[in-house]
Amino acid sequence: MSAVLCERIEAIYQQVIARNPGEDEFHQAVKEVLESLGPVLVKYPEFSEQKIIERICEPERQIIFRVPWQDDRGEVHINRGFRVQFNSAIGPYKGGLRFHPSVYLGIIKFLGFEQVFKNALTGMPIGGGKGGSDFDPKGRSDDEVMRFCQSFMTELYRHLGEYCDVPAGDIGVGGREIGYLFGQYKRLTNRYESGVLTGKGIGWGGSLVRKEATGYGAVYFVREMLKARKSGLEGKSCVVSGSGNVAIYTIEKLQQLGAKVIACSDSHGVVIHERGIDLSLVKQLKEVERRRIADYATRHKDARYLAGGNIWEIPCQVAMPSATQNELNGRDAVALVKNGCIAVGEGANMPTTPEGVRVFLEAKIAFGPGKAANAGGVATSALEMQQNASRDSWTFAYTEKKLDEIMTRIHADTYATAEEFGASGNYVAGANIAGFINVANAMVALGLI
Ligand code: NDP
Repeated sequence: MSAVLCERIEAIYQQVIARNPGEDEFHQAVKEVLESLGPVLVKYPEFSEQKIIERICEPERQIIFRVPWQDDRGEVHINRGFRVQFNSAIGPYKGGLRFHPSVYLGIIKFLGFEQVFKNALTGMPIGGGKGGSDFDPKGRSDDEVMRFCQSFMTELYRHLGEYCDVPAGDIGVGGREIGYLFGQYKRLTNRYESGVLTGKGIGWGGSLVRKEATGYGAVYFVREMLKARKSGLEGKSCVVSGSGNVAIYTIEKLQQLGAKVIACSDSHGVVIHERGIDLSLVKQLKEVERRRIADYATRHKDARYLAGGNIWEIPCQVAMPSATQNELNGRDAVALVKNGCIAVGEGANMPTTPEGVRVFLEAKIAFGPGKAANAGGVATSALEMQQNASRDSWTFAYTEKKLDEIMTRIHADTYATAEEFGASGNYVAGANIAGFINVANAMVALGLI
């Protein structure tokens, strides 16, 4: 890359920092993509002329709103709601809602930015967006969660629509919340517009495999990375961080493919079970009883619980960070590589810090970035939209086969793109470049809008 080009990309990045002060996660996500784009601008000078990178870093629309609600004792609470409609060049905005106390504009923007490229990689007609609130659903009753969701949707509904913006779940937003949100949208609009939200229940417009899709898809991606290295998952020891939606179905597919998962976690600690994690107990604790992972060790005497423990210090061959952003740092990456880890597949969004990514790339282990590896969730959301549009519902086997095909193709595309742009084996470069080119081509075709 020429010095002039380097300077140009650096100048764009500095402008992003200046225009979006204090949004560290957004800066990090932008930097990671921009670092891959030099060779693309050499090959496609029209992207520079049209200022595609500058435009892609600026969301098309950002909505911030007040969400007032009452708890069970009648006390009034005020939260903040967000929806960032990042890019709709290839389809309606699509991306989840996150309810977590850490949510602020910088988190939603980083997630929305990543979503643009991830969605483009799926090969499906979906643009990128993300939303959420600093509301904490933990410890809240079903009634409180319902009242919050109804208030949130009372403002957001006017910005949504199956041809405009289609949210889904993310951290803190699962089937229960999607139900309350959809119910309120239906009531406000007097329309049974199934395609306006994904992650719906099976009896009311949902798709089989959507719940499992992100975790299953991430494992398929790791399977493909290992296949490219003439290896496989059978018999491999694995650790999976988190114990939420993505982690649970990552563990399930790893086990189905013959791997042994020896540890998982939540934000309070890590559970280690050398015999292999008992997934039915994790599901019971997390999906039914909504309890801490610490309770796992009280019900399985040969399992160990490490309060505040670091899951990445446990020796394993495959690591799948599936909890949250920046949960795996440079030191963790060094420990994993030193202990014999050969593959890392990101189920979460941006779980590895830039230093961690650098360690994995330098060690030349198979590293699948979230943008590619966790795209199975949104891809299956697009399959849910297809079923809604045709008033159809597909079988589990048929939908899962489609998911497998999509993940296999995303692997092949990111692998081939990395090769083409001189970054053989580097899926970070492959995913960033392949996703960017798809969106950039559409933006050029649509003119200056
Ligand atoms: P959930 O809310 O279902 O689960 C999140 C899990 O991560 C919980 O077990 C939570 O523990 C744990 N966790 C949070 N912070 C930490 C931490 N610092 N250390 C250890 N564990 C932690 O969310 P999802 O499973 O849906 O999402 C997980 C990740 O996957 C997110 O990055 C999300 O953006 C990404 N993702 C999700 C998709 C989906 O389809 N759901 C699609 C693509 C990406 P606790 O309960 O203690 O907070």
